[in-house]
Amino acid sequence: MRTSIFISGGGIGGLTLGLKAARCGIDVTVAERLPGPSPIYKGELLQPKSLEILDSLGVIESIFKHGHKISDLEMTELKNLKAVPEHSLMSYSILPSRYPFSLMIHHETLKEILLDKAKEYPSFHYHPHTICKEIKDHTVTLEDRKEKQSYEVECDFIVGAEGRSSVTRNYMDISVKEKNYNHHFLTVTFPRPESMVKGKIISTYQSFLGLFPLPDNEVRSVYLIPAGEYKSLRKKPISEFHNLYKKLCPELEGYVDQIKEWKQIQLMVPLKYHSDTYVKDHLAIIGDAAHTVHPMAGEGMNMAIQDGDVLGELLCDMHKEGKLDPVNLEWYPKVRKKRVSHQMHLSHLSALAYSYPYRPIGWLRKNSLQRMERDTVSHYKQMLNISGLGLWRETLYDRMIQGGVLPIRTDKISCDKEQGCTIFTQNQDYPWKETEALR
Ligand SMILES: Cc1cc2nc3c(=O)[nH]c(=O)nc-3n(C[C@H](O)[C@H](O)[C@H](O)COP(=O)(O)OP(=O)(O)OC[C@H]3O[C@@H](n4cnc5c(N)ncnc54)[C@H](O)[C@@H]3O)c2cc1C
Repeated sequence: MRTSIFISGGGIGGLTLGLKAARCGIDVTVAERLPGPSPIYKGELLQPKSLEILDSLGVIESIFKHGHKISDLEMTELKNLKAVPEHSLMSYSILPSRYPFSLMIHHETLKEILLDKAKEYPSFHYHPHTICKEIKDHTVTLEDRKEKQSYEVECDFIVGAEGRSSVTRNYMDISVKEKNYNHHFLTVTFPRPESMVKGKIISTYQSFLGLFPLPDNEVRSVYLIPAGEYKSLRKKPISEFHNLYKKLCPELEGYVDQIKEWKQIQLMVPLKYHSDTYVKDHLAIIGDAAHTVHPMAGEGMNMAIQDGDVLGELLCDMHKEGKLDPVNLEWYPKVRKKRVSHQMHLSHLSALAYSYPYRPIGWLRKNSLQRMERDTVSHYKQMLNISGLGLWRETLYDRMIQGGVLPIRTDKISCDKEQGCTIFTQNQDYPWKETEALR
């Protein structure tokens, strides 16, 4: 068998790239290990930049139909469980975007939408229940697990989109250094009150509950526990779990109780790593194969989509211009690497802010979030950076304002390009187009 682009792994990253390549007529083959939908919970929050990309791929209407829009994230800090809650609100609506909101959608629904769309293109080939076993130069050995048969595929380019354990990354001889955290999360979806439409984070100095509304009056929840506590928690009656939630959010009475067994609840172990290299010769890695991020800022799935978009656009242009020198692939990390690093840094900082159970940290967090909401520049920077729409780095000056050392700025944001406060332009997303630099 022969194909132009072989993609190992049909997760969100692989399918975004596969669809993008198929839309420009490239022969593309995706092999996916699983026979059907995965039972494991994975990311569900789409950031504004990903919505723009999904719009360009012709699937936004389906996504709106199956998603729940979230414009505001409400952070509530409780001094103790009886105290009056103190709120701060971070809003996507301050962003000058077509999509000034994020959107919650079931992970498997999003995959299905991408796959259905890709199958409309004759140059797209999808091999489910097929594992990428081995790579040798331009030849990939696949194993059809249903038929128990192996076969080879010859290709021009190979993209590893296998998530955390990546055959392609191993073949490229890239090792990654994992960082673990002092906490884990319990995560589960259950029915929600109809009025719960905002994203919510509710915390005390020693507990954290995140609530992210899904369509059909469901809510995805994440609850932070110290690393290693899961086993002992599971031995307790399920009512203990309900109580942990209801203490922080009494509104969940009658809703979280609908979780009947511990086995409905998934343990989520956060970790992070970032590969130094994304590209070698005719091989590239995208998404979790290249970087894994702490889930606090809801970026993992978005980074996979954004990698798929940039690499896909590059491969499309290379094919269109007949410039297939693999050296061109270097444009992909040039665009993506520093953006990924910054989003990983933001997610890591958010994780640190919630992971140490000390009262002064809770107090500092509450104050800096409230000041961030009121300080127009900090608010804008935070939302711009997590949205993926642009990158405007935080400075020491910003941190001093958030820490209460300097006064809050209430003036309107006035952007000039030098500051980097604007939305990424097409030339920043796809810089090889401007310079006609492909070889
Ligand atoms: C528990 C959990 C919670 C998360 N929560 C969030 C969140 O709230 N927000 C967010 O944005 N992100 C979240 N993430 C991260 C997000 O799910 C990932 O970043 C995203 O799915 C990465 O997409 P991907 O396509 O790179 O990899 P994956 O989604 O891992 O897809 C890789 C695919 O490759 C297949 N595969 C693997 N090996 C092979 C092989 N050898 N041959 C063929 N196929 C193979 C796998 O079966 C899989 O389908 C979470 C992740 C986990 C695990």
